[in-house]
Amino acid sequence: MSNIVVMGECMVEFGKAEQANLYKKSFAGDVFNTGVYIKRCIENQANVSFLSVVGDDEISDQMITLMHDEDIDSRFLYRSTQDKMGLYLINVDNKGERSFTYWRETSAAKKLMHFIEKDGGIDKLNGIDTLFFSGISIAILPPEDLFTFWQYVAQLKSAGTHIVFDPNYRPALWPNEEAARSAFNIAFSLANVALPGVDDHIALYKARNAEDVADLLEEIGVDEVVIKNGSQGILVSENGQRSYLKVEPVKEVIDTTSAGDAFNGGYLSARLMKKSVTESALFAANVAKCVIQHKGAIVDKKAFAEYLINHPM
Ligand code: ADP
Repeated sequence: MSNIVVMGECMVEFGKAEQANLYKKSFAGDVFNTGVYIKRCIENQANVSFLSVVGDDEISDQMITLMHDEDIDSRFLYRSTQDKMGLYLINVDNKGERSFTYWRETSAAKKLMHFIEKDGGIDKLNGIDTLFFSGISIAILPPEDLFTFWQYVAQLKSAGTHIVFDPNYRPALWPNEEAARSAFNIAFSLANVALPGVDDHIALYKARNAEDVADLLEEIGVDEVVIKNGSQGILVSENGQRSYLKVEPVKEVIDTTSAGDAFNGGYLSARLMKKSVTESALFAANVAKCVIQHKGAIVDKKAFAEYLINHPM
């Protein structure tokens, strides 16, 4: 059975409840969402582990219970006795526009490299097939820890682990654009697979379209590139060979939260099942399509399972 590790931060989310002035608690984070969707698509054909740090408190216990309900392995999840999980509120204004307020500056996940170091280094992950991380996973690490992280990624890659990166650019998490660009350039140069969105590259690399994204990543030398561009389609570059895939636009979009994360989950699960790049991207688009027709980052388990029956891999 293959082993995939997703690395990043899961936060406590407070979104609007039906009643005014009440918030509904859940748990979310980009790579965590992806991990959930990989596991739901692949079930017992692969082991999905979450590499992160949470607190040693009741709310972290609840998050671990959710992980176990989703069959996500917690063997690489560290628990801090000093720090807690990050938290955010989703506010919705009277026009339906969402905004976010974060409390994550001191979150436990930022200390991940220290926990790995204390645990004897990255050797523990030797032998895993795939490591997936995002621009958010690295943005939260202190700059001095990022250097350690690159060494770990290089070590895993030379031991045969497939490295997968989605830039998921969040300007507020970076001191400036240059810091983000230089980190992303290192991540792309280490990645076997890149799963970028066009919007991130418009913001950070002045890309004009998916072709500009492909130009950059082919030049850096990423072998497998799948470029998301909302309903405008997908551009795939496999060893420099490009193909364009159509996405059937959803007529009634309910909530685009985690569309990209769900896409990544669908894509990676299909690749783990040895589907081709094109088959995997089409399946990923179907998974994302389901998610944007439901509220929230993680769709109700039963509704998702029913959707998969009608849209199999
Ligand atoms: P992100 O959430 O990272 O910004 P996108 O907006 O590109 O990423 O969405 C990710 C994927 O979700 C797309 O590649 C596409 O497959 C699907 N998707 C997004 N919006 C739509 C839409 N309106 N209709 C159909 N599919 C969509």
